[in-house]
Amino acid sequence: MTRTVYVNGEYLPETEAKISIFDRGFLMADAVYEVTSVLGGKLVDFEGHAVRLERSLNELGMNAPCTKEELLEIHRKLVEENEIDEGLVYLQVTRGSDGDRDFVFPDPETTQPGLVLFTQNKPNLADSEASKKGAKIISIEDIRWGRRDIKTTQLLYPSMGKMMAKAAGADDAWMIEDGHVTEGTSNNAYFVKNGTIVTRPLSKDILHGITRAAVMRLAEEAQLKVEERLFTIDEAKEADEAFTTSASAFVMPVIEIDGATLGDGTPGPIAKQLREIYLDEARKKAI
Ligand code: PMP
Repeated sequence: MTRTVYVNGEYLPETEAKISIFDRGFLMADAVYEVTSVLGGKLVDFEGHAVRLERSLNELGMNAPCTKEELLEIHRKLVEENEIDEGLVYLQVTRGSDGDRDFVFPDPETTQPGLVLFTQNKPNLADSEASKKGAKIISIEDIRWGRRDIKTTQLLYPSMGKMMAKAAGADDAWMIEDGHVTEGTSNNAYFVKNGTIVTRPLSKDILHGITRAAVMRLAEEAQLKVEERLFTIDEAKEADEAFTTSASAFVMPVIEIDGATLGDGTPGPIAKQLREIYLDEARKKAI
């Protein structure tokens, strides 16, 4: 099926959508993005994604391409047009183009930001095979830039990290900086030891996950102990269980780190419990 996508004010078949070759998103990864999941045809935590988008834009001195209400309307229209029951909506705002290539930002008064959205149909997002099996993780060095709290489209290194994992027979990679785990290539990282959930505190070193915020709140509501602190990959390898969170995979159990099996090598009870509670609430609150 040909998707209907949104490009700079127009709804078009994906084959007809075009952006300028001078767009700074294309030339310089001068762009930010969001991925919102869809469950039962409704958007999960749209508000959280809209607020983070606004923050990313502010940090980079980019204008918002439209209002939050208009963004919601575009999301909903694409979900409806493309008949998405479970899946994702990808949104990207670029600094746009003034018709040439230059390191200097174009004048925001005269250059409009670009806005692109498209859907991805994922029929078994909530009931995924991957989540039942759990993920195998390798660790790699974190060589990304220092503003990982801004959700830019500079995804080459995370993409290479996934390829390194694949080459090693694993599913994903956790990145390490100054001896401590930062996060996964496209998710936040956690381990559980003696009933306590440990994850890195928020800073410019990691993306402030929308799923992370929800899962931390739900964990506390479920009377689970949560500790935000720096941790090493060796601590995670010796954990009872581990997991990651992201809008595209929710709570994903981790069963192996750098070849070390966690617990009995199947998804741990706390990861499973959190996935269940998260999905339950996400479905109830989706708009
Ligand atoms: N960290 C990184 C590096 C990511 O790319 C993502 C997902 N885009 C996350 C964490 C998880 O964020 P969220 O829960 O908002 O999807």
